[in-house]
Amino acid sequence: MADKGTLYIISAPSGAGKTSLVAALVEAVERVRISISHTTRAMRPGEEEGVNYHFIGRDEFVRQVEKGRFLEHAEVFGNLYGTSADWVAQTLRGGDDVILEIDWQGAAQIRKQLPEAVSIFILPPSLEVLADRLRGRETDDETVIQQRLDGAQEEMSHYGEFDYLVVNDNFQRALHELSAIVEARRLVTARQSARLAGVLANLLAKH
Ligand code: 5GP
Repeated sequence: MADKGTLYIISAPSGAGKTSLVAALVEAVERVRISISHTTRAMRPGEEEGVNYHFIGRDEFVRQVEKGRFLEHAEVFGNLYGTSADWVAQTLRGGDDVILEIDWQGAAQIRKQLPEAVSIFILPPSLEVLADRLRGRETDDETVIQQRLDGAQEEMSHYGEFDYLVVNDNFQRALHELSAIVEARRLVTARQSARLAGVLANLLAKH
């Protein structure tokens, strides 16, 4: 059996700290790569093409959907987002683990196609902390904050569909928990027996 990487789906409401945690996870654990999605939403200040997303127009997005280029795609807050099927397949084949930072709709599509994918949901510690984080982020008015909280609760209502729940109360602790999930999955026998083929052959050889 080839030593294939594991596919991780990580979802969270906005304000849970998912992006920073995933960035730290990739620094902390080797051979983990983040899939860069395609999106039709406008670039935000500080974002870069090909780093945060591949920014494309709606027509181009629809063309790519028709060509079957996306493993999953969904509309989130009026914008389209999709995961590149080729990049994910190639990276997993190369033996690296892949993280998809996608919403619950995308997670459901991936689970159907690839039931071996491992899904993790990141929760904020409380609604109050989430509201504070959303307030701290930009100088939006209270109506916008309330809308974001509604969106966050809609996303969080899907927590039960995920394999793991991690609460981001303390950043280091949450990072440690995410790393533990990834490290433990690497020790699963099916994966270890591919990696340890030589060692196992030696251990079981005639003596
Ligand atoms: P943002 O625009 O704030 O970066 O992301 C908004 C939401 O879209 C987040 O919940 C994020 O996880 C989700 N998202 C980002 N990329 C994808 C993707 O490729 N597919 C799906 N289904 N959701 C995505």
